[in-house]
Amino acid sequence: MKAANSVFSALGTTVFTVMSALATEHGAINLGQGFPDDEGPDDVRAAAAKAIIDGPNQYPPMMGLPALRQAVATANKRFYGLDVDWQSEVMVTSGATEALNDCLTALLNPGDEAIIFEPAYDSYRPVIEAAGAKVVAIPLEPPHWSLPMEKLEAAFSDRTKLVLVNTPMNPIGKVFTKDELGRIAALMERHDAYAVCDEVYEHLVFSGHAHVPLMTLPGMRERCLRIGSAGKTFSLTGWKIGYITGPAPLMEVVAKTHQFVTFTTPPGLQAAVAYGLGKDDAYFAGLASSLEAKRDLLAKGLRAAGFDVLPADGTYFISADFRPLGFNGTDEEFCREITVKAKVAAIPLSAFYSSPGAPRHLARFCFCKQDAILEEASARLKAYAQGIAA
Ligand code: PMP
Ligand code: GLN
Repeated sequence: MKAANSVFSALGTTVFTVMSALATEHGAINLGQGFPDDEGPDDVRAAAAKAIIDGPNQYPPMMGLPALRQAVATANKRFYGLDVDWQSEVMVTSGATEALNDCLTALLNPGDEAIIFEPAYDSYRPVIEAAGAKVVAIPLEPPHWSLPMEKLEAAFSDRTKLVLVNTPMNPIGKVFTKDELGRIAALMERHDAYAVCDEVYEHLVFSGHAHVPLMTLPGMRERCLRIGSAGKTFSLTGWKIGYITGPAPLMEVVAKTHQFVTFTTPPGLQAAVAYGLGKDDAYFAGLASSLEAKRDLLAKGLRAAGFDVLPADGTYFISADFRPLGFNGTDEEFCREITVKAKVAAIPLSAFYSSPGAPRHLARFCFCKQDAILEEASARLKAYAQGIAA
């Protein structure tokens, strides 16, 4: 028999699914896969229920419901001062996962190069490679995760078609500064490259930091495809509603990929997200401040258990160095061990690297959970750590 596609045949099941299954098997608190353990805002869910009952429920327009495309354009203006034409510059997708696939396959040709920063979200590499392009990975190093500018400059060439910029960044909670984005922008201009901007955590940014879309920098408006996700903005990860904002000529091509991936996205959910994006400032500020308090709570618990906790300025995630606990194995071994023995699941950070030199001493913990769950997880990890030390 002929072999199936080489990129996807070589892949395992995603680490999120593997660790969630292990957590279920062992009855562990799941701080691995990133999803909130509440149901999301009542009013947004009520808007979906009403839209589904009232209809229409047949195929909506391929680009997305006008109400949602208008709401995305308005949100771009409201939060970032971007002027966006809702008809030609916004498209709705079935989650940011589809949006990433649409943008990458729309831009890449075989032989192109795509720069990513590692640790990187796990869908980037296979989608780039399946398009026949080459991944050029730039590893960021703990604990500061700063941009290695010399390596980045060396990575850019005229073969560079795009750079994938994920800010706020999963799994490390890094929020790119305007200065860092400016450096990336200068290289993009020098080498005539595009950016696919994964900004799903745009509203999950904590005190002292601000989300800056690369698209707002001079010269970047025509070069960036900016991706958002209602899953993160409304704590409704199961809904899988994403949206892309980009210049009309690129969006025309992106729409062609979307038409053969999903073609459309459930209209009732789109209507509810359109409503949600119009919520008042208190909603968006409250979302960030509630997650910031959860970050602080888990960071405190992890420190009390003996971890060295790294900074996390946004997203759902915090990473921690487990070596001070006296555990000498790899991060994969550590995450399996705490799932089985401490009954708390986490994700090994090396799962987000494919370049050599991945750190092997860090675990990613998800903090978008009820306070009592975070407290219980911290207590279990502390008891486990005391067991190692004893
Ligand atoms: N990008 C990043 C960085 C993510 O963490 C996620 C969350 N799964 C996604 C994209 C995909 O988002 P969605 O659930 O909207 O497909
Ligand atoms: N974004 C989520 C995370 O990083 C997982 C999404 C998924 O399971 N594919 O945990």
